[in-house]
Amino acid sequence: MERTLIKDLGEKIGQEVVIKGWVDVRRDHGKLIFIDLRDRSGKVQMVALPNHTEAHTAASTVRPEWVLAVTGLVNKRPEKMVNAGILNGDIELEITGVEVLNESLTPPFSINEDTKLVDENLRMKYKYLDLRSDRMKNNLIMRDKVISFFRDYMHQNGFIEIETPMLMKGTPEGSREYVVPSRIENGKFYALPQSPQQFKQLCMVAGLDRYFQIARCLRDEDSRGDRQPEFTQLDYEMSFVTQEDILQFTETMFIEFVEKVYPTKHISQKPFPRISYHDSLAKYGNDKPDLRQDKNDPNELAFAWIVDFPMFEKDAEGNIGAAHHPFCSIKDEDVDKFMKGEDLFSIRANSYDLVLNGYELSSGSIRIHQADIQKRVFELLGISEEERQAKFGHMLEAFQYGAPPHGGFAPGIDRIIMLMQNEPNIREVIAFPKTGDGKDLLMGSPSVVSKKQLDELGLEIKAKKKE
Ligand code: ASP
Repeated sequence: MERTLIKDLGEKIGQEVVIKGWVDVRRDHGKLIFIDLRDRSGKVQMVALPNHTEAHTAASTVRPEWVLAVTGLVNKRPEKMVNAGILNGDIELEITGVEVLNESLTPPFSINEDTKLVDENLRMKYKYLDLRSDRMKNNLIMRDKVISFFRDYMHQNGFIEIETPMLMKGTPEGSREYVVPSRIENGKFYALPQSPQQFKQLCMVAGLDRYFQIARCLRDEDSRGDRQPEFTQLDYEMSFVTQEDILQFTETMFIEFVEKVYPTKHISQKPFPRISYHDSLAKYGNDKPDLRQDKNDPNELAFAWIVDFPMFEKDAEGNIGAAHHPFCSIKDEDVDKFMKGEDLFSIRANSYDLVLNGYELSSGSIRIHQADIQKRVFELLGISEEERQAKFGHMLEAFQYGAPPHGGFAPGIDRIIMLMQNEPNIREVIAFPKTGDGKDLLMGSPSVVSKKQLDELGLEIKAKKKE
């Protein structure tokens, strides 16, 4: 008999069906044995009655997380047993046959409850069990819906999805990059992308006018609460646009996103308020103000634009750096100062952030598309001619072959889903997250590699850092 999904049982009242899934709970009342079975679509209560002897005996042996194929009759529950408001609360499966497809060890934590209170390291080690729980499964289902919405929206608006390389040369996004040693050229390394920034700009030079990608970004940052070494952006770039075009496009997209994917939520202010970086610091003391009217309302969404970011900033060591990245264009009013190299920290870029409920969702900018201006930024950042050529020669060269004016944005998908699902951190909305210090507790990475691999790569480990 063909398998029925548990969510579809309500349509099969009075029929015999086969369902397959995991034992959620078993309640043994001697004569009556109740088992809740769970599959990816939902749960149902089943009952084994003593008159189906074989099935009853089998039902008495099963334990939580065993995998079963159960044959049974879909019965309506008597009126007073109806559990209104939950899936299958009005039906029950009368078990006529049980086939044990696999047994399970006793899980290290119970899955039929919310796993929020379980030690997080334990949840990470047994992620495949954690993901069986309702909340975690639902977060992943919603993640898929969110990504599908954005992908469809992009396609409907004439964007094409282009995959850019994972093995690349370093790109400056303000973090340390992960490097991958080359086997063929010992002593040389690839970098993993901190974002597809340079490639998406090169797509614009290529005339691929509207690019997008659900892009994986990798940044080797020291453990910082909510950060993950890998995260996902809805990365996009357009040519022949102004900052206003990108803000309008993005705002319309987010409003439609909330209406379609999260209709129970409400946006507190439309159009989204716009605040200059300077005013935001002066008024709220930071550049990601939380503008919610009622911070206890889980459905309130307070979006805001922060605009006119400075182009340059001092890093921790007092060196001048790019506040966002060195590809942002300069505001017309500040070009003079920029060319003269005066009062650098007062120079503003055509860059903007989207903020939601006190979190930065995204940064973006109108880019530089002229080689001489791009060179000037590198100059002011103190990057020598030699280093410029070595690191960014390809960009400077590309800009000399008819680079169009362009700009883009890259909202963080994990953060969006975290906020929409009212989760406290992005690990709750990522299928296989890492710990704050970059460990994968399930697979056990990072891990050592064999001497043979090291030899092939021409590498030798000098000394291990103390744990
Ligand atoms: N690449 C930038 C980032 O990752 C986003 C952008 O400027 O489009 O923040």
